[in-house]
Amino acid sequence: MIYIKLDLHIHTHYSDGLFEPTKVIELAIENGLNGIAITDHDTISGIEEAKNYINSKYREDFILIPGIEFGCIHGEEEVHILGYFIDYNNKSLLELIDKLKLSRINRSKKIIKKLNDLGISISFEEVSNETKDNLVGRPHIARVLIKKGYVKDIPSAFKEYIGVGKPAYVERFKLSVGDAIDLIHDIGGISVLAHPGLLEDRSNIQECIDLGIDGIECIHSEHSHEESKYFKKICMDNDLKITGGSDCHGQYKKGELLLGNYYIELDDIDTLKESK
Ligand code: AMP
Ligand code: FE
Ligand code: FE
Ligand code: ZN
Repeated sequence: MIYIKLDLHIHTHYSDGLFEPTKVIELAIENGLNGIAITDHDTISGIEEAKNYINSKYREDFILIPGIEFGCIHGEEEVHILGYFIDYNNKSLLELIDKLKLSRINRSKKIIKKLNDLGISISFEEVSNETKDNLVGRPHIARVLIKKGYVKDIPSAFKEYIGVGKPAYVERFKLSVGDAIDLIHDIGGISVLAHPGLLEDRSNIQECIDLGIDGIECIHSEHSHEESKYFKKICMDNDLKITGGSDCHGQYKKGELLLGNYYIELDDIDTLKESK
């Protein structure tokens, strides 16, 4: 049996990743992967570019799964939901993406205003220049804060200024977990709970299951071996798909790029596709 290695969680510069899709694909191949899912936050902009590149250079030798990651709100907690095999040209999806993008732009202007009031001199233009397509997130603001010498790294930017409860934090519009799962199903996709190991309230796992989630991201760069095993058991007990990926944003973490180290192995991609 031939197994294919798939990293099902990767960001590009269309959201808060550093690399363009073509570079992500080259790095994925260099690091021994047979396929990836591009799962940018709130956007599908990188998918077509990735698909065209693969078609022109690798054809069926490299697999691309169209994906997206939504940062949803569930009770007090931000819960990330991944969608795979989505019809990424669906009109409702594209309308939602426009709405999310506009809300991100408005929210980033509010964050910048708070930072300015704290005596930090950064502009929307500088932040926008960090993005490919104005899908502004706090990581882009953090990068400007680093460049201008206000903080030493991204975690410090969150800890000192833009993390939840910090002086320049501003909420953004978020889908509910149920709405995200339903939308993903409506556009032909499967829904997966991202990095459950990062949840503060682990009872949210069962609540996602009750809301109809199709799978759990058991393997993730922030999960310990024990955690991965525990999440796999939950999948087996609840007849859910086991998925995994690096959540690579292009930065090195603890000396590694992450690509090629966090993946699932499948003999047949179709087993992943069917919804519950
Ligand atoms: P946003 O979508 O603009 O609210 O930004 C959230 C993104 O910032 C997440 O998806 C992570 O990629 C990143 N992030 C959130 N918290 C932290 C943190 N404490 N340190 C570094 N990156 C973070
Ligand atoms: Fe991110
Ligand atoms: Fe996430
Ligand atoms: Zn992610």
